[in-house]
Amino acid sequence: MTRPSSAGRFAPSPSADLHIGNLRTAILAWLFARSTRRRFLVRVEDLDDRTFPDIAARQVADLAAIGVTSDEPPEYQTAHTARYDAVIDELTARGLVYECYCSRKDILQAPRAPHAPHAPEGAYPGTCRDLTDTQRAERRAGGRPPALRLRSDTFRYTVTDILHGDYTGLVDDLVLRRGDGIPAYNLAVVVDDAAQGVDQVVRGDDLLPSSPRQAYLGALLGYPTPMYAHVPLVLNADGKRLAKRDGAVTLAEIGVENALAQIADSLGFTARTLPGMLDDFDPARLPRDPWVYRPG
Ligand code: GLU
Repeated sequence: MTRPSSAGRFAPSPSADLHIGNLRTAILAWLFARSTRRRFLVRVEDLDDRTFPDIAARQVADLAAIGVTSDEPPEYQTAHTARYDAVIDELTARGLVYECYCSRKDILQAPRAPHAPHAPEGAYPGTCRDLTDTQRAERRAGGRPPALRLRSDTFRYTVTDILHGDYTGLVDDLVLRRGDGIPAYNLAVVVDDAAQGVDQVVRGDDLLPSSPRQAYLGALLGYPTPMYAHVPLVLNADGKRLAKRDGAVTLAEIGVENALAQIADSLGFTARTLPGMLDDFDPARLPRDPWVYRPG
């Protein structure tokens, strides 16, 4: 694969309209990319069947309205399924993929499998990792289409984050393809970042715990490790993650000027335009605490 020159990105899932917290993260991703002379890309993560084309179109339009534009036409993950298939084939050929028949409930109730007596809390317990051919045939006959999991050889991996420093987190036998055939988020995000030359990943800090497993998978595939910046989320007045039900939170509800002004204030900028914010951007001065958003 030839890798295009380095890039940052914003990669929303079109399951709901972007709210002011998502827009703030998008602006930060743009600022990180531009201040380091990277290309900036928007990628629509629409593999999940709870995502919708009309929402994707509104997300791209909302981003453009606040000045967050992609240097290339936004890429849609559903247009690239051959990419994910090729990587799963490669990992399968390397003996690093196995079928998993477990439901969520099976996983919660399962004892730790022999290879994983010390599997940390929240790790896949290894139930299907070493099934015999006979056991596998039996489970297959049970009718549930299997998910495909990665045979990982570690429980921990460390990434470096501009805002969080070295962060060590859980890696387990993560799902590569779900039972319904859809490539898993953790696979798609890693494959696409590499294919698009993304070497700077800026996103909400709810995804910090996923970054070790993504970086581990990328390393297995020989991809360069991106640099990460996991930025604080935006919370509602009750201290919970901001959501649509909190009221006026989308761009249509808030208005472009007002949204830009509030985001700029929350980040300590006096400028009200993206180029103005870029002139003043210094990652070291970014607020480290969540922004509590009060509509109105
Ligand atoms: N599509 C993911 C989301 O909207 C973000 C993926 C990423 O930035 O890695 O939560």
